[in-house]
Amino acid sequence: MRECNRFAIAMTHHAAQTLQDFGYRLTPQRTLVWDVLRRGTPHMSAEEVCGKVQEQFPHVNISTVYRTLELLVGLGLVRETRLGPTQRYFEVEEEVPHHHLVCDQCGSVTHVHDEDLGGLNAALSSEQGFVPRELTVFGRCRDCRDRSEP
Ligand SMILES: [Zn+2]
Ligand SMILES: [Zn+2]
Repeated sequence: MRECNRFAIAMTHHAAQTLQDFGYRLTPQRTLVWDVLRRGTPHMSAEEVCGKVQEQFPHVNISTVYRTLELLVGLGLVRETRLGPTQRYFEVEEEVPHHHLVCDQCGSVTHVHDEDLGGLNAALSSEQGFVPRELTVFGRCRDCRDRSEP
């Protein structure tokens, strides 16, 4: 029942309702972190989220932001992804899972979906017994390739 409820609510991104359903108070910091993620660019680092939050609540510190992000990730409202060796990025969870193409040169991040992967998902699960949740592909984006061509 709980799982089902959570899923339905996460789909419509009713963060406030989800927090309350799970017994969390809707503090101004939580509301603001959620708003920053929803309105900002996708793939914000915790430091970037913190900077935006501090424009309105200067006293909020990075550990509060981390705790809030972890709570929202735990509730399935926010997705945490690693687009490099160490840096963690956060974005609002979408209804359809997506993967990331990361350009080594300009750092741009493009979303692709399962259908763009062709038979890769199926091959990984049949040949490796591995079910991918999220793929991150590093390379060079079209713009950078166009720029480097004469
Ligand atoms: Zn690029
Ligand atoms: Zn993404």
